[in-house]
Amino acid sequence: MRYLVLLLLFIAQAFASENDLSHRPKSFNVNGGQAVFADFKEAQYKISYDLTSKRAYAVATINFEMLESGFPIFDSVTSPVGVWLDGEKVTSLETKTPQGETTARYVNKVTSLGSHELKIELPISTLVEFVDSGVKSAFWTSDLDERRFLERYLPANFEFDQVKMTFIVEFLGLKNKQVIYTNGSVLELDNNNYKIEYPSYYTASSIFFHTVPQGSTNELRFKLKSIDGRDIPAVVYFSKSTWNTGLERLKAKTIEVFQELESDYGPFPHPTLTVLQAGMGGMEYCGATMTDFSALGHELFHSYFARGVMPANGNSGWLDEALASWRDDGYQTSTYMSGSSGMSSHPYYTRTTDRAAYTFGARFMSFLDGKLKSKGGLKPFMRHMVDKRVFSPLFVEEFIAEMSEFYGVSVQEDFKRYTFGSSLNFDHSSHKSNSKVHRKMSLEELKNYL
Ligand SMILES: [Zn+2]
Repeated sequence: MRYLVLLLLFIAQAFASENDLSHRPKSFNVNGGQAVFADFKEAQYKISYDLTSKRAYAVATINFEMLESGFPIFDSVTSPVGVWLDGEKVTSLETKTPQGETTARYVNKVTSLGSHELKIELPISTLVEFVDSGVKSAFWTSDLDERRFLERYLPANFEFDQVKMTFIVEFLGLKNKQVIYTNGSVLELDNNNYKIEYPSYYTASSIFFHTVPQGSTNELRFKLKSIDGRDIPAVVYFSKSTWNTGLERLKAKTIEVFQELESDYGPFPHPTLTVLQAGMGGMEYCGATMTDFSALGHELFHSYFARGVMPANGNSGWLDEALASWRDDGYQTSTYMSGSSGMSSHPYYTRTTDRAAYTFGARFMSFLDGKLKSKGGLKPFMRHMVDKRVFSPLFVEEFIAEMSEFYGVSVQEDFKRYTFGSSLNFDHSSHKSNSKVHRKMSLEELKNYL
């Protein structure tokens, strides 16, 4: 099994680029030309924390491919201070997508087909706090608001794109040591200078990154024994200044959920597991989460669905929330469904997840489970999806096609009727609200958990 996991990872990486191309959003008119989504191949981020001047900044070097000529699209919430395309100084502009669904940036230079290099310099000021003993910094994400993935901190592509990402992190003028909690492999190059490599199947929503001065957290490191024989390095931790349940309880719950998920959906898809207990509700990453204790099961489930079987856009983002909430409610079965929603049919460039996923979406999964009960219910299909589609971002249409194929019966009409409506139309009061799980946290709140 261990070799099977390695083989699957290899296949996932080999097909990453092909999958990128088949999920690349279409171009749109801008500035008398076409804004074009590029295929990012590799991105290196040099991230510097200067303890003396109390400034943080990044230089991103992105190798990308243009599949058609036009203005290359990228995104960065922070305005760059400098942009270079193939070594030439250029400018970038912010634009709304055609229906105003979201905002992105584009390089204001028509760029030809083929490979190019983009270099972008910018300050990092979001969720960075310099303290006496060092710096606290995190790249925490959310899928409930626009532009809250990696692009909130660093230049990145839309979520469809799998990119080989590397961080070079340097702490200048640091007298103590920093700890880095992340879901990549960390190498200390020399004193206070680190290289972090992330798997090439990662997207803008995959990376968990949190650095704090050594000594400001309590942590417990241990190995999780996978059913495929691996010893998976795990860490559970929290800030010494925030409320917590204690490390042993956090570890015990992590092991319990890990075993439940492996028994339902197969070997844990990630090489490591990182759990930060903080805040209210939680957010998922590839083999990592920042979560409160009550949402730990929900968030770890997302290491299989959301950060294992990944959404390629906002209209497929509800699937994993519906499945996670269905699990939270004890995998209920139902034969009755009423109402409708537009979870799958938001405007084309939508990047956020429809919140109806937690309620109406979970109920829709109960309904599908009931409908497919004679064929084993939904769980065998979910396991099949982990085996077949792990680390290949997908559209909702592909999910529907996979399900129809798996059961030998079309579920197209059900999805159309209940998820492709023009708007949400169901009685909220009859559905148990689960929206506290991914409660929106403001930046002010998040700062408390740095
Ligand atoms: Zn969730």
